[in-house]
Amino acid sequence: MPTYAYACTSCGHAFDAVQSFSDAALTECPECGGALRKRYGTVGVTFNGSGFYRTDSRASAGAGASSTASSSSSASS
Ligand SMILES: [Zn+2]
Repeated sequence: MPTYAYACTSCGHAFDAVQSFSDAALTECPECGGALRKRYGTVGVTFNGSGFYRTDSRASAGAGASSTASSSSSASS
Protein backbone atom coordinates (compact mmCIF):
# COMPACT_ATOMS: atom_id res chain seq x y z
CA MET A 1 0.00 0.00 0.00
CA PRO A 2 1.51 3.32 -1.00
CA THR A 3 1.97 6.02 1.58
CA TYR A 4 0.98 9.54 0.69
CA ALA A 5 2.26 12.59 2.49
CA TYR A 6 -0.25 15.37 3.03
CA ALA A 7 0.17 18.85 4.37
CA CYS A 8 -2.54 21.27 5.34
CA THR A 9 -2.43 24.58 3.52
CA SER A 10 -4.31 26.24 6.36
CA CYS A 11 -2.68 25.14 9.63
CA GLY A 12 0.45 23.41 8.31
CA HIS A 13 -0.47 20.06 9.83
CA ALA A 14 1.52 17.34 7.99
CA PHE A 15 0.91 13.62 8.13
CA ASP A 16 1.28 10.44 6.12
CA ALA A 17 -1.75 8.46 4.97
CA VAL A 18 -1.59 4.87 3.79
CA GLN A 19 -4.07 4.54 0.95
CA SER A 20 -4.66 2.15 -1.89
CA PHE A 21 -4.66 3.46 -5.42
CA SER A 22 -8.45 3.13 -5.55
CA ASP A 23 -8.93 5.32 -2.48
CA ALA A 24 -9.86 8.91 -3.08
CA ALA A 25 -7.25 11.46 -2.18
CA LEU A 26 -7.74 13.26 1.10
CA THR A 27 -8.74 16.85 0.73
CA GLU A 28 -9.71 17.92 4.21
CA CYS A 29 -7.39 18.48 7.14
CA PRO A 30 -8.34 16.28 10.12
CA GLU A 31 -7.11 18.99 12.48
CA CYS A 32 -8.79 22.14 11.21
CA GLY A 33 -10.85 21.07 8.19
CA GLY A 34 -8.72 23.17 5.87
CA ALA A 35 -7.58 22.23 2.39
CA LEU A 36 -4.91 19.56 2.10
CA ARG A 37 -2.27 19.34 -0.54
CA LYS A 38 -0.51 16.15 -1.48
CA ARG A 39 3.21 16.20 -1.01
CA TYR A 40 5.29 14.18 -3.41
CA GLY A 41 8.98 13.38 -3.19
CA THR A 42 8.91 10.94 -0.26
CA VAL A 43 10.66 8.38 -2.47
CA GLY A 44 13.22 10.98 -3.50
CA VAL A 45 14.49 11.19 0.08
CA THR A 46 15.68 7.60 -0.21
CA PHE A 47 17.66 8.44 -3.34
CA ASN A 48 19.20 11.46 -1.64
CA GLY A 49 20.49 9.10 1.03
CA SER A 50 23.20 7.74 -1.27
CA GLY A 51 24.50 11.27 -1.83
CA PHE A 52 24.52 11.78 1.92
CA TYR A 53 26.73 8.74 2.40
CA ARG A 54 29.19 10.09 -0.14
CA THR A 55 29.38 13.38 1.73
CA ASP A 56 29.71 11.54 5.04
CA SER A 57 32.71 9.43 3.90
CA ARG A 58 34.45 12.56 2.65
CA ALA A 59 33.86 14.31 5.95
CA SER A 60 35.23 11.39 7.99
CA ALA A 61 38.37 11.32 5.82
CA GLY A 62 38.92 15.02 6.50
CA ALA A 63 38.39 14.48 10.23
CA GLY A 64 41.02 11.73 10.22
CA ALA A 65 43.54 13.99 8.52
CA SER A 66 42.97 16.81 10.99
CA SER A 67 43.30 14.46 13.99
CA THR A 68 46.64 13.21 12.62
CA ALA A 69 47.87 16.78 12.24
CA SER A 70 46.82 17.73 15.78
CA SER A 71 48.46 14.62 17.28
CA SER A 72 51.77 15.30 15.49
CA SER A 73 51.74 18.95 16.61
CA SER A 74 51.11 17.94 20.22
CA ALA A 75 53.98 15.42 20.01
CA SER A 76 56.43 18.09 18.79
CA SER A 77 55.47 20.51 21.59
ZN1 LIG B 1 -5.22 22.03 9.05
